[in-house]
Order: sequence, then structure tokens, then C-alpha cells
Amino acid sequence: MTSAEILQQHGIRPSLTRVIIYDYLRAHRTHPTADEIYQALSPTAPTLSKTTVYNTVKLLSASGVIKTITIEEQQARFDACTDIHGHGLCTKCGKVFDFDTALPKMSLPEGFDILATEVYCTGTCMDCRE
Ligand SMILES: [Zn+2]
Ligand SMILES: [Zn+2]
Repeated sequence: MTSAEILQQHGIRPSLTRVIIYDYLRAHRTHPTADEIYQALSPTAPTLSKTTVYNTVKLLSASGVIKTITIEEQQARFDACTDIHGHGLCTKCGKVFDFDTALPKMSLPEGFDILATEVYCTGTCMDCRE
């Protein structure tokens, strides 16, 4: 499916800006921040503003098209993969990576409507050990 089709499925009008931002996230599974998305796209999309990038990722995340990852206190990262998977953060080099996981058994209060479940893991990656 094209990015435009997926946006439409979620009830989002596929404007050019939304499509290029979503395309970027689908192609780059590095969990970029809004700033990083802006830096990467601005050379080819000179009319793009930082505010537009921020607003777009917020909209896409609220609609469930992408995930917001808040593994770091200071900045949100974004992920086009919305399947259940865990996120690991190396606190030395700042790399955020995916890992496979099943959801733990959860005893939530009755009637609780889950909006998002995140599995986060922080530590030191192989490259940074020593
Ligand atoms: Zn590392
Ligand atoms: Zn991920």
C-alpha cells in the first residue's frame, strides 16, 4: 500500500507534506525525532517548516498511523511500525533499536480501554561495552 492510501484509511487527507513525512518514516526505521525528520527532508522540501513536521507527526501518532516513542525524557521519537515490538535505548550512544517481544500478562482495571502499550528497555549496547 502506498503511504497516501494508508493515510486515507485512517481518515487523514494525504497532503504532500504528510505523505513525504510518512514515507520517510516508513523508509527509515531508525526512530528519528521530529528534528531529524526535518533535517533530512528540508533539502528536498524547502517549504517544509519545523512546526509542520511537529504537527504532522503529532497528527499521525494520534490517528494510530505511527507510534510515538518516549523512551527518552527529552525527546519523542517516531516509528512507522505499529506492530507490537519493544524499544531498547543504549544510554551511551543514544541508539534506539527494535526488539521482538510478547506483551506481559497484564491485570488492568476492569473496563480500562488500552490506547497504547509500550515495552522499553534501557542499557548499554555491545558497541559501547568495554
Ligand atoms: Zn551504544
Ligand atoms: Zn520500533
